Amino acid sequence: MTRTFAVVNQKGGVGKTTTSVNLAAALASFGQRVLLVDLDPQGNATMGSGIDKKQAGTTVYHVMLGLSDVASARMRPQGAAFDVLPANRELAGAEIELVGLAERESRLKQALDVCHEEYDFVLIDCPPSLSLITVNGLVAAREVLIPMQCEYYALEGLSDLVDTLRRIRTNLNPELQISGLLRTMYDPRNTLTLQVSDQLESHFSDKVYKTMIPRNVRLAEAPSHGIPAVVWDRTSKGAQAYLALAREVLGVSGAVRESDEDVRHD
Ligand code: ADP
Ligand code: MG
Repeated sequence: MTRTFAVVNQKGGVGKTTTSVNLAAALASFGQRVLLVDLDPQGNATMGSGIDKKQAGTTVYHVMLGLSDVASARMRPQGAAFDVLPANRELAGAEIELVGLAERESRLKQALDVCHEEYDFVLIDCPPSLSLITVNGLVAAREVLIPMQCEYYALEGLSDLVDTLRRIRTNLNPELQISGLLRTMYDPRNTLTLQVSDQLESHFSDKVYKTMIPRNVRLAEAPSHGIPAVVWDRTSKGAQAYLALAREVLGVSGAVRESDEDVRHD
């Protein structure tokens, strides 16, 4: 069965897009069939996967408005092992255009349901807001992955997000679950990082991924090449962390450096 993740945090700059792109590439490198859905008008996941957002004629915007379907709009970036449903600034208009449409919260879900059998994983990179576009991501998903930087205000935003998830579970998507909080840009030399990280573990215990993503320059550089860091420099600390996260998501021990073949889809 397809596992559909919404990668969500209403804060910008916490690593949602970096996580979406690199987890997609990592899962694909383990033989998983992956669709990455860019649900942010900034189109960063599209560009970071190697697709020029200006060249993407048919996008997630057209899919959500019922003007196209996933099969026609998705693209396979050159050299990539996963599909991308691209986005560009046109998507910003959807926020208003959707309001008048029936079942406005479940447009993305309906579109994705049609192609479920083609994928093991669908990863939805949400915009930095709790808007109707994000709600579409949360209605389409079953699992929520929350990237967060371990800083002072991180926990404050988290309670708003948890409230939103609770509302969506009650009204729109009873199956929605927090799959995990992911500590990003982790710097163990920073005392505040360690304190916030401890607080997260005590509040959310098993909902915190064991894998932590370190601050790593290769993760920040890769988007300018349009190649996920996991592909561009697989041995870098950042890429290795996302490969470990993929193993954790797949339920294969992150600590063991098993051959990639072991988790290949058959
Ligand atoms: P979001 O999608 O939540 O806005 P991004 O994934 O775009 O966040 O990350 C914000 C910025 O931080 C980007 O410039 C990205 O390259 C950089 N970045 C993200 N994760 C890391 C990391 N682990 N180490 C270093 N830089 C990172
Ligand atoms: Mg982003």
